[in-house]
Amino acid sequence: MITYRIATIPGDGIGKEVVPAGQQVLEALAKASKSFAFEFENFDWGGDYYRKHGVMMPADGLDAIRGKDAILFGSAGDPDIPDHITLWGLRLKICQGFDQYANVRPTRILPGIDAPLKRCKPEDLNWVIVRENSEGEYSGVGGRVHQGHPIEAATDVSILTRAGVERIMRFAFRLAQSRPRKLLTVITKSNAQRHAMVMWDEIAVEISKEFPDVKWDKELVDASTARMINRPATLDTIVATNLHADILSDLAAALAGSLGIAPTGNIDPERRFPSMFEPIHGSAFDIMGKGLANPVGTFWSVVMLLEHLGEFDAATRVMQAVEAVTADTSLHTRDLGGTATTAQVTAAVCALLEKSAVPAANAA
Ligand code: NAD
Ligand code: MN
Repeated sequence: MITYRIATIPGDGIGKEVVPAGQQVLEALAKASKSFAFEFENFDWGGDYYRKHGVMMPADGLDAIRGKDAILFGSAGDPDIPDHITLWGLRLKICQGFDQYANVRPTRILPGIDAPLKRCKPEDLNWVIVRENSEGEYSGVGGRVHQGHPIEAATDVSILTRAGVERIMRFAFRLAQSRPRKLLTVITKSNAQRHAMVMWDEIAVEISKEFPDVKWDKELVDASTARMINRPATLDTIVATNLHADILSDLAAALAGSLGIAPTGNIDPERRFPSMFEPIHGSAFDIMGKGLANPVGTFWSVVMLLEHLGEFDAATRVMQAVEAVTADTSLHTRDLGGTATTAQVTAAVCALLEKSAVPAANAA
């Protein structure tokens, strides 16, 4: 029996609702398994912690979670604290501290979901967006001078390093190679951003030579938004810089039906540090504390967490339970046009998992 050590960090807003729901799903899974268990440790970092201590997480916080097998995260974002403080003080501190340089965002239209693209068949939209997660436009380099004066100036400098681009390209090509279509689209903007993005393109060509069986093409980021809508079936694996992929993946999530469904993994592919899994949505101030949050994005993140641990059978079982639940429109939350609550959706997924217990011999 393996015991996986999981850090749960609900953070703010609906993170406090969906992370406990994700933990319940993992507990239901473990109850039905003879081969693995989970040991959870919860960390109360976020906006409330900031109000008490003046920081989003303690200075030595990373040390408290360094030894975990994975992290399940909710959201950082509080109505009364500026967003750059909550984001940089918690989520980015973990992503950058643990060099989780690959942000992976699968997108599919799940059964029962009424997606907005009427000409798109569910099987036409099956993407994984790989977001460079450690540098680029969000490197944090920049500053402000002459604050408050008419000559005030400010910069956010985008930094791409050869090592950083090579490792994300290699990760994306490898991921594309592992998927049935072996198809990669490299998103660029080297027409307007004529230094770093030109290097990005050059490195894509270099790394592609290591993967002769992967078909790949290049698309400008603005054109790619139209392609996602007009020709979704021509895309499979997509790699883009931090900012470009941030925007494209919210579009992808919307095209798949709701921001409330979409998952992500902040991965350290070298496994030097724990990886962190989270729904892509934020704190959702408009619905927080009401029990209306869709927990599916968190459950799908739990699937990615299980895959990362190598528990592929368990991951498949959770995904099947989630798809059975989305297929039933009476279990849709308000973002999907339904009336179900977070608790009802969670209970339905847990009930399916407890029913579908597998013998230990079947486990990974
Ligand atoms: P948001 O994702 O919180 O909300 C956007 C809209 O989608 C809202 O109408 C919300 O109700 C809805 N929505 C989102 N998730 C939902 C769910 N699970 N179920 C049902 N409806 C859902 O984005 P925002 O409004 O831009 O940001 C709010 C706060 O969250 C900000 O402070 C922002 O910085 C933060 N944020 C954090 C993260 C993160 O920690 N990863 C990501 C995005 C936003
Ligand atoms: Mn985003």
